[in-house]
Amino acid sequence: MALSWHLRTQDSSVIQTALSVTCDFDSGNIVVLDASSPQNVQLAIRPDTRSPHFQWFHFKVDGMQVGEPHAFSLTNASESSYNRAWTGYNAAASYDQKTWFRIPSQFDGKALNFELSPEQPQIWFAYFEPYSRERHDGLIDQALNKAGTELLATGKSVEGRDIPLLRKGDGAPGKRKIWIIAQQHPGEHMAEWFMEGIIERLQENDPELEALLASADLYLIPHMNPDGSFHGHLRTNAQGKDLNRAWQDSTAELSPEVYFAREQMEKYGVDMFLDVHGDEEIPYVFTAACEGNPGYTEQQKALEADFRARLSGLTKDFQTRYGYPKGQPGKANMNLACNSVGERYKCLSLTLEMPFKDNDDAPDIVTGWSGKRSMQLARDVLTVLGQMVSVLR
Ligand code: ZN
Repeated sequence: MALSWHLRTQDSSVIQTALSVTCDFDSGNIVVLDASSPQNVQLAIRPDTRSPHFQWFHFKVDGMQVGEPHAFSLTNASESSYNRAWTGYNAAASYDQKTWFRIPSQFDGKALNFELSPEQPQIWFAYFEPYSRERHDGLIDQALNKAGTELLATGKSVEGRDIPLLRKGDGAPGKRKIWIIAQQHPGEHMAEWFMEGIIERLQENDPELEALLASADLYLIPHMNPDGSFHGHLRTNAQGKDLNRAWQDSTAELSPEVYFAREQMEKYGVDMFLDVHGDEEIPYVFTAACEGNPGYTEQQKALEADFRARLSGLTKDFQTRYGYPKGQPGKANMNLACNSVGERYKCLSLTLEMPFKDNDDAPDIVTGWSGKRSMQLARDVLTVLGQMVSVLR
């Protein structure tokens, strides 16, 4: 959807200070309400297709006056899916779509407001450093041609976009099968940055990784929900389905993305599952597990504790103090990937949540939580999996 605005005088000549606000590109999302005053640009976030969810925004502003103050207001922030998420949140911005930084933002109970005096006439704003489809294509190419993965299968989204399943390893009998999937929730762009960290490390030859790969194969789905990301959704696919609420009743029509992943898991088996996400509210990295499953085992419990202890020992970018409330025994929502896969395969099964805000244990005032930090976390997760591979079964 193209949304732009030009201030015109009576005789239709364009005033030099006219701002253009657009989102007609990959993962764009904004509605322009009033851009007539650069000091008070009124905007709104557009809901997902066939779903009331919204939170993700991504738009470009052209025609700014360098050095002059500009103020932007996301006027419907209080009605978004996670309205408590705006407190303590700072918007991401970039002049070149490569280097992203945070700008101080304030939530006034209704709108999210931010302002800046730009260094360039054009800028992009986003909820988080976007992981573009173009970069995704490059990542798959890198995985196949440099990181030594093979393309096992290609799923199709509702709108026909490819969902590659990659494998690192030969699939020999007896090897552990470690599955990592990402970005079921399309606005959680940190999840594919995480996958880039995995694939980057696979390109390198280090002893820890070699030890892991001697005993395990990695099954990777770098992006589960390409339609949602393309359309600038927060949470759903093109049918308005929340994929992480579709793991019991997925269908080829409404949630082919999950249908594909489940089919492939049945085909190859699963010995460990990690589902990578971002959390809007909590300013820490944490995992959620399947302790509410009816068939939850002591071994799963022990493996979760082991994973958490090792990862928090390795990096300040993981902790165990903050997270979701524990699931009550037997009360788990089996439509969540982590619970569904944990129940089916009785293996270590985790949801990994990274922040949209920052990790308050190690804050970075310039970038907040970022793509780069998501990539480093992925490398650390591989180290932990290497340490644990012999006990996964
Ligand atoms: Zn999520």
